[in-house]
Amino acid sequence: MKVLVINAGSSSLKYQLLDPSTEEVLAQGLCERIGIDGRLTHKIPATGAKHVFEIPMPTHAEAIQAVLDALTSAEHGVIKSMSEIEAVGHRVVHGGEKFAKSVKIDSAVMAAMEECIPLAPLHNPANLTGIKACEKVMPGVPMVAVFDTAFHQTMPAKSYIYALPYEYYENDKVRRYGFHGTSHKYVAGRAAAMLGKKIEDLKLISCHLGNGSSITAVDGGKSVDTTMGFTPLAGVPMGTRSGDLDAGILEYLMTKYNMDIKEMLNVLNKKSGVQGISGVSSDFRDLEEAANNGNQRAALALEAFQYSVRKFVGAYAAAMGGVDAIIFTAGVGENDANTRMAIASGLEFMGVEMDAEANQVRGKEAVISAAGSKVKVLLIPTNEELMIAKDTAEIVGK
Ligand code: ADP
Repeated sequence: MKVLVINAGSSSLKYQLLDPSTEEVLAQGLCERIGIDGRLTHKIPATGAKHVFEIPMPTHAEAIQAVLDALTSAEHGVIKSMSEIEAVGHRVVHGGEKFAKSVKIDSAVMAAMEECIPLAPLHNPANLTGIKACEKVMPGVPMVAVFDTAFHQTMPAKSYIYALPYEYYENDKVRRYGFHGTSHKYVAGRAAAMLGKKIEDLKLISCHLGNGSSITAVDGGKSVDTTMGFTPLAGVPMGTRSGDLDAGILEYLMTKYNMDIKEMLNVLNKKSGVQGISGVSSDFRDLEEAANNGNQRAALALEAFQYSVRKFVGAYAAAMGGVDAIIFTAGVGENDANTRMAIASGLEFMGVEMDAEANQVRGKEAVISAAGSKVKVLLIPTNEELMIAKDTAEIVGK
């Protein structure tokens, strides 16, 4: 079965055509500058070929058409005709409390997704635009929505409730939702496979550390707590996002610098995190280089990040009453041996013992804890597209 996975942003659209049963990626790429001019980058992993096309993309519909043309083209295509695509899986950021798992898209699901727009005003409209564009260009092909929030819907109320007047939850749906759910679910499943255990019997802490970062406690295969909250701004410091902070700071800074809430949120989303502390970069490679050259603020940014992640790992071990394995994934988690070591180094007291040599690995599944470590530490590259394709195949196959 061939599944097209679509991740639509406001002016971009990422895609992968893959076979969820063999896990083979036939083609993948990116449409950029939708609504401006339009550029398609199309890659074929089997040959390593990469093609770049300038194609007018006034809307997402032209972008999807360009993707289909590339996939079926005589020169650089990978399928003979569009009819080989049996289903489309869409990444959708916010499913609110309505969606605890992936669903086949129909008009009722679309309406429910529209209702979630106020919860993710930047992301959900773009995801919906991608779905509508697909409907237009590939009518009749079954489509599935896979939500970033769905995996976390198993959290108990004590984890998701904010200590605010209860009516804000009841009337306004203000609660912790959590994000990166597709990634946390995927790596948790792989961890069970790597350890040769049933996921029902495992307590896992999954550290998705990338540009955006979140930590999730997975008990028996279910998310029971996670660091991101009502929005992806919460939790640990990120590339440019502040993570958790005292809400009192907002009033203080807004008054002092005459900022409105939009300007304040722009600071918290775009100018904070390790970028804000260091003044150097949001990229961990740049930070490490700067820190090695003596930049104190870059060193502080890295330390603050590592400390925050370590604190949540400890908190989630306490929340679950133990932990069998800690997982590192995403850009930083998969590539940055120093950051992994620094995070895990403070955790010997709870049975975490790293293997410095085994930790010198990048981008592939590996056990990076010492042979005798009570708590295993795993590096697992995430694969959200594969997870989306598998969910899609399963739902459409039914
Ligand atoms: P996103 O959240 O945008 O999906 P990724 O998961 O791709 O982000 O992570 C991107 C981040 O990964 C980069 O900002 C960079 O800091 C980090 N990264 C990538 N490669 C390395 C590396 N070799 N060493 C340290 N950090 C890295």
